[in-house]
Amino acid sequence: RAKSEGRGTYRFFEAKMGVEVRERRLLEHDLRHAVARGEMQLVYQPQTEVGSGAVIGFEALLRWKHPERGYVSPALFIPIAEESDAILQIGEWVLREACREAASWPQPLSIAVNVSAVQIHSSHFVGLVHEVLLKTGLAPHRLEVEVTETALISDPSRALLTLRQLKALGLRIAMDDFGTGYSSLSNLRSFPFDKIKIDGSFVRSVDSNEQTAAIVRSVLGLGRGLGLPVLAEGVETDAELGFLIAEQCHEAQGYLMGRPSPIGQFTQYTHGTIPFTADDRKRA
Ligand code: C2E
Ligand code: MG
Ligand code: MG
Ligand code: MG
Repeated sequence: RAKSEGRGTYRFFEAKMGVEVRERRLLEHDLRHAVARGEMQLVYQPQTEVGSGAVIGFEALLRWKHPERGYVSPALFIPIAEESDAILQIGEWVLREACREAASWPQPLSIAVNVSAVQIHSSHFVGLVHEVLLKTGLAPHRLEVEVTETALISDPSRALLTLRQLKALGLRIAMDDFGTGYSSLSNLRSFPFDKIKIDGSFVRSVDSNEQTAAIVRSVLGLGRGLGLPVLAEGVETDAELGFLIAEQCHEAQGYLMGRPSPIGQFTQYTHGTIPFTADDRKRA
């Protein structure tokens, strides 16, 4: 009896796996055409200076509107795109689109673009970035490339070479999702980062959980010691922002300051110079 139950469970498991594999293949197939079919869109999320509340730039975040499924989360489709190499074509579109958009903004505003491991390890990537900067006229120092630690570990020496070449173009490099990857501390020493982005999971409840607070404080100390600005991701409440102000975190990003939205939502910044202060937020 145990044996047949076991077999049944296995069959159920196998069937479920089959569905998941099929699902992935379908999405993978649709992803190959998504850019050409105009299904990809960028939304932008403001990044603010904690002290003044001023908007200093935006992070571009990818949205895929699937013709039948509606919006598919990047957390789901980016890993599939990475496995199938479709990420190279998609990532190129993101870079062109984000830089083209940012080139029209007032000078001080920067644009942060997420870049995947596959792109970092592609031999064309540095040349592509160079070409896009020239073509769009975006000043290199206004472009920030966000990479996660997992993008670096498969071939660290190659990744280091690429990051150095990118820096030679004049752009900046941020370590994304800090605290969630592997061996964060040695990565900070080995790679030429310009900024640390603390993962949102550490920012959530930082005002009420002593352990979380201790971790965030120590990352801020790390940033100070290394001379790197720290940006806190996923700030949702005034209490969380209050903690970051008190601990002198440099920059913040999260639903509290603004949800990722079509750029048209932010014309007061991208077409003008209205500072984004805490008072503005209360009035909004
Ligand atoms: P990420 O780069 O760490 O981006 C931050 C994520 O946190 C975004 O999710 C953003 O919408 C979300 N977020 C921002 N503020 C808050 C907040 O206050 N609370 C909460 N709960 N979430 C907040 P999103 O847009 O779903 O993107 C997920 C991940 O997908 C990104 O994480 C990034 O790793 C990847 N991704 C997005 N766009 C691209 C892209 O163009 N290229 C690549 N390679 N990856 C991308
Ligand atoms: Mg990011
Ligand atoms: Mg992140
Ligand atoms: Mg992430």
